[in-house]
Amino acid sequence: MPIQVLPDEVASQIAAGEVVERPASVVKELLENALDAGARSILIRVEGAGRGLVEVSDDGMGISADELELAVSRHATSKLASAEDLFRIGSLGFRGEALASIASVARLTVRSRASNSQSGAQIKVDAGRITAAAPVGAPQGTTVRVMDLFYNVPARLKFLKSDRTERRRINEIVMRYSLAYPQVRVQLEHDGRSTFSTSGNGDRREVLVAVYGVEIARKLLVVESREDPLSLDGFISPTEVTRSNRNEITFFVNGRWVHDPALTAALMQAYHTMLMTGRFPLAVLMLDMPPGLVDVNVHPAKAEVRFRQKDRVFSAVQRSVRRALLAHSPVPIGDLSELWIPDGRPDEAGPRLAVPPEPVSFEGWSYRLPPDQGQAQPPSPEEPPVQRVPLLRAVGQVGAAYLVAEGPDGLYLIDQHAAHERVLFEKMMAARQHGLVSQRLLQPEAVELTPAQAALIEEELPVLAQLGFEVEPFGPAIFSVRAVPELLADIDPARALRVLVEDFEEDERPLQGELEARVIARICKRAAVRSGITLSMEEQRALVRDLEACQAPRTCPHGRPTMIHLSVDVLARQFGRK
Ligand code: ADP
Ligand code: MG
Repeated sequence: MPIQVLPDEVASQIAAGEVVERPASVVKELLENALDAGARSILIRVEGAGRGLVEVSDDGMGISADELELAVSRHATSKLASAEDLFRIGSLGFRGEALASIASVARLTVRSRASNSQSGAQIKVDAGRITAAAPVGAPQGTTVRVMDLFYNVPARLKFLKSDRTERRRINEIVMRYSLAYPQVRVQLEHDGRSTFSTSGNGDRREVLVAVYGVEIARKLLVVESREDPLSLDGFISPTEVTRSNRNEITFFVNGRWVHDPALTAALMQAYHTMLMTGRFPLAVLMLDMPPGLVDVNVHPAKAEVRFRQKDRVFSAVQRSVRRALLAHSPVPIGDLSELWIPDGRPDEAGPRLAVPPEPVSFEGWSYRLPPDQGQAQPPSPEEPPVQRVPLLRAVGQVGAAYLVAEGPDGLYLIDQHAAHERVLFEKMMAARQHGLVSQRLLQPEAVELTPAQAALIEEELPVLAQLGFEVEPFGPAIFSVRAVPELLADIDPARALRVLVEDFEEDERPLQGELEARVIARICKRAAVRSGITLSMEEQRALVRDLEACQAPRTCPHGRPTMIHLSVDVLARQFGRK
């Protein structure tokens, strides 16, 4: 074949391959653009795990009508003018190719109104060709819609993973950026359902709770160090909170999420001998340094960086993390009753109360580590306090979902499902020492699973046995169930098993602790009374009593709150009596 210059379209698609690998990369680029535009609030709407639609709306400075066409052209950027600028980059974008790349492999619409303009404009690009541009009414800011990603590159479509995985990647990106930018309000919707949100009030601990749940967030340790010109901030898990992979290790360099094996290695070194092999910590670390000390122009996806003073950066990370581990001072999350938990958390069925974001107050918490003196702090002997609840009087039920109870210090709204989950969980964890009671089925039941599910179950058979399941392989992807835990006796055994496997597959929320506790938590989730069930006064009282007896009554085993406490104080404040 003779040498020929590639047609523009082909060249664009090749370039796009490096920037846009999957729906999550689209989310990342659009999020970065919104952040660069100084947005205070960003809404991300996703349909069909990002294959159908990714839409990011922001209230940033916008794009003026006469620049829309430039914005979607290759190598057009407002963030860089000369080659020297490359060494003082303060923005997340600078290559001027994200929008053009996305536009070459999808249907793109950009609608925007610049802050200094009275009217907005919109441009449409279809597989790299501009199809329409016109003035439109638009609020200040920018909305970028990306539809039918890869519709013109079927080969790319084939490389996408399951919806679940693609959705998880998107969630990862959004949650990570939310942690790095707590002052920006972020909302994420999947198929019209709000699945994650932050308030944008600047409190990173609140975002930690939204991302990891209260139980884990409460345990994380603060990292803070200044070693001119480097500064490092963030959170790491104590040695007892671990993961089986590196997925929850996140680094930001100058506000940019980066992938750097060497930074991860520095972190791991800090944990040296403190973790079992094959276990990894959870960390969110924000590294800041003068832009001249880091080269971000390594790869089109901008996820790799090169440091000018590599050794110095790594040893700073390693030392600061080690120090935080030794000091072992957990992030003070405060009393749950004081904390605003954003609604619409993932996989929550039933109605949820929206709690007014008003009474958030962390004043008086000492949040920072003592100033860096370059030496290890003695480990603190204190255990995190047990969050007991006082004696409560059940008053009634609301919406067949919540119990209302009165305590000496105000009103408690209790989520009956979450509360029951907690009660069952603690009972089961206590009972497991003596082996859990299982109930034999009159007749073994055959359950057919998908090959992937079968592989999952195969792995977890010993754990299931310990919990009272008697399950045996019976054929390819067929299992015979002979006994189930007593707790699940009145659920159809095939369903019990199937539901459990589906939960295994869906392992999206990070849960702490060993597999057994995890499985127990899942069983309890299934066995607990659902919302929508009316409880008699007797049953309400029994549930409240059981909850009082729990070790950690305020959260369900998945870290969601079981109750909202409206203290006498908060009530008085809300009614304007104070
Ligand atoms: P880069 O971010 O590297 O400059 P992009 O292709 O992502 O390249 O964006 C091109 C240009 O379009 C940006 O430089 C910016 O001027 C403009 N732009 C893109 N998204 C937004 C947005 N959400 N708000 C304001 N301007 C934007
Ligand atoms: Mg960009």
